[in-house]
Amino acid sequence: MKVGLIADIHSNAEAIISVLGRLGDVEEIWCLGDIVGYGPDPARCIDLVRERRHVCVIGNHDLCVLNAIDVSEFNAEAIESCLWNRDHLSGERLAFLRSLPATAEPAPGVILVHGSPRKGIWEYVLSSWQADEILSETDASMIFVGHSHIPLAFMKPGEAPVEYIHLADGQVLELNKKGVRYLINPGSVGQPRDGDPRASYMIFDTESYQVEFHRIAYPVETTQEKMLLAGLPTSLSDRLKAGI
Ligand code: ZN
Repeated sequence: MKVGLIADIHSNAEAIISVLGRLGDVEEIWCLGDIVGYGPDPARCIDLVRERRHVCVIGNHDLCVLNAIDVSEFNAEAIESCLWNRDHLSGERLAFLRSLPATAEPAPGVILVHGSPRKGIWEYVLSSWQADEILSETDASMIFVGHSHIPLAFMKPGEAPVEYIHLADGQVLELNKKGVRYLINPGSVGQPRDGDPRASYMIFDTESYQVEFHRIAYPVETTQEKMLLAGLPTSLSDRLKAGI
């Protein structure tokens, strides 16, 4: 089965529409949390994910919109956009967000989680030592995470230390090597932070264990205009153009 792997949509309809268009007829969408928060189209983004066959876990911004976490770790702009997103969602869509699990295992040995298996929604997995510790604590063959908005891949061959794999647009990884396990972040659809403003996503083949990494340009100015019209913080719309 071919699966579209997406994370951190952040209410950016233009970005998710572009990604879903490119994903075409993949059989399922696996979403790693933070459908909402920051951007101007929370309802549309939830509806677009729900239109497809999907497996989705919850992120910290989804929980913020549900008023279900302590926001002391959020900055002022994140809180402001969280409250705006909350005010623009129906009870039925909020119920959908509330129904999302913290983790999912959509295929044997494959874990989906927003931050990390050990710290749920909060851990930014950015370093080899973190990936090594996390992979050492689980038998999972593949862990897909979001949260950092940075596309990354780490491989752990047996008991050997984790190795970092650089990802470039169009890259194909063959991950079916015996005894090798992986931790992978497909990057962010709606608010990339690696200096490349293009939406980020992956395609995962659950049989061959092949992963393709892609970037796609989307009409970022349209999203920015909507944010300004909505009165969302300008720092949040500015960062989309820079990919930071
Ligand atoms: Zn996020």
